Order: sequence, then C-alpha cells, then structure tokens
Amino acid sequence: MYYGAATTEAPAFTDRTVLVVGGGNSAGQAAMYLARYAKDVQIVVRRESLRGTMSQYLIEQIEKTPNIRLRPLTDLARVEGSDHVERVVLTLTDGATHVEEVDAVFVFIGARPRSDWLPAGVLRDAKGFVVTGRDLPPDARYARIWKERREPLALETSAPGVFAAGDIRAGAMNRVASAAGEGSMVVRFVHEYLALT
Ligand SMILES: Cc1cc2nc3c(=O)[nH]c(=O)nc-3n(C[C@H](O)[C@H](O)[C@H](O)COP(=O)(O)OP(=O)(O)OC[C@H]3O[C@@H](n4cnc5c(N)ncnc54)[C@H](O)[C@@H]3O)c2cc1C
Repeated sequence: MYYGAATTEAPAFTDRTVLVVGGGNSAGQAAMYLARYAKDVQIVVRRESLRGTMSQYLIEQIEKTPNIRLRPLTDLARVEGSDHVERVVLTLTDGATHVEEVDAVFVFIGARPRSDWLPAGVLRDAKGFVVTGRDLPPDARYARIWKERREPLALETSAPGVFAAGDIRAGAMNRVASAAGEGSMVVRFVHEYLALT
C-alpha cells in the first residue's frame, strides 16, 4: 500500500498488476508513470468517468495507454494479503463485488480538510482550510473577529494563541517536509505568543 510515491516505487512493479485509487491529476500522473513498468494499471474511481476531476490532456494520455484500465463507479472496499498486498475487493455501485489479484495499491485520495468541528472564531476558506497569519487581514471577516491590537503571528489563526500547521492550513504546500517544518515553527510562535500575554 502506498500513499503517493509512485515515481520511486514504479520500477519495483515491472510486469505486475497495480491499482491506483483516485481520479485527480496526481492519480492520473501516477498511473501514466506506473504504466511504463507495470503490465496492468487499473484506476478505481467512484464517478462514472475522469471528466471533471482530471485534466483533459491526462485523460487523453490514459486513453491512449493500452495497459491502463479505468474502473468507474467502483469503490475499493478491502485490501487483503499476508505480508504484502495480494488482492483487493472492489464494490460496484450496482452492488456487485469483484475480487482482483493485484500486487500493489497506490492511494491518491484524502485531501479534504476535516475542520467542521472548529469554532466559528477560527476562520476557514470556502474549502474548509484554516486561514492563518498574513492571509487573515485581507479576509473581510477578520476585522469582526480579531480584537487584538497586534496582527496575527505567522501560522496563528483568527483565534489568538491558536495555530495551524500542515495540510489543514489554507495555502499549505501539501508536503510532508513542509507540514513537519511548520509544526516545529509553531513551537517558536507559541513562545512568542506567551511572551506577549
Ligand atoms: C494521496 C496523497 C499522496 C501524497 N504524496 C505525498 C508525497 O509523495 N510526498 C509528500 O511530501 N507529500 C505527499 N502528500 C502530502 C502529505 O501526505 C501531507 O502534506 C502531510 O501528510 C501533511 O501532514 P499533516 O500532519 O498536516 O496532515 P495529516 O498527515 O493528514 O495528519 C493529520 C492527522 O490528524 C488526524 N485528525 C484529523 N482530525 C482530527 C481530530 N479532530 N482529532 C484528532 N486527530 C485528527 C488525522 O487522522 C491525521 O492522522 C500526499 C498526500 C496525499 C493525500
């Protein structure tokens, strides 16, 4: 099972069967790359096609690649195997179930923020990502919420003393290294905040 990492892992699946989960551009690019090595690349998506979630140029490339197969209206229900992936259970929207022998699963889903539980005082953008630091003052809601006489510190949310780091943050780089880096930066900003209070 892999989350991303198709570029580095693809050669390990030469002449094997791999499953790509997701219909976005990252899934499409991974499928194209994996198809250079694997004998069979299957893309599993819940929708009926890739239109609407993937760029047209990638869809065309995929259509022209004989060893990539799209499996629309399909959900990955289960991954089975002992010490490595051996098979997957796929559920179709009509309720049918397929068991497929595969050698690896590459997951390219899961980028939606889970921020609904946050109080209204922590501003989020239209997609639910938490707004921080310099991005707060231009936000029309900021003036109503922010009561401090100072501007928010970097990575500070609209709730003074509450910080956000990593993918949840609006404008995040969406990389492991930047998420970890922001986490360590926040430690310093918390000290700064405590010194202010
Ligand atoms: C398919 C995919 C492939 C990727 N490939 C790469 C790659 O190759 N290289 C790379 O650098 N980056 C890659 N990324 C991006 C990378 O995974 C993220 O940038 C990174 O994981 C962000 O770290 P994070 O700590 O901000 O968030 P996450 O790693 O998402 O961690 C957030 C954690 O918080 C938990 N959580 C959520 N809500 C709550 C709650 N209310 N209470 C307690 N816990 C909660 C979640 O369960 C999760 O464990 C990929 C992302 C995806 C989705």
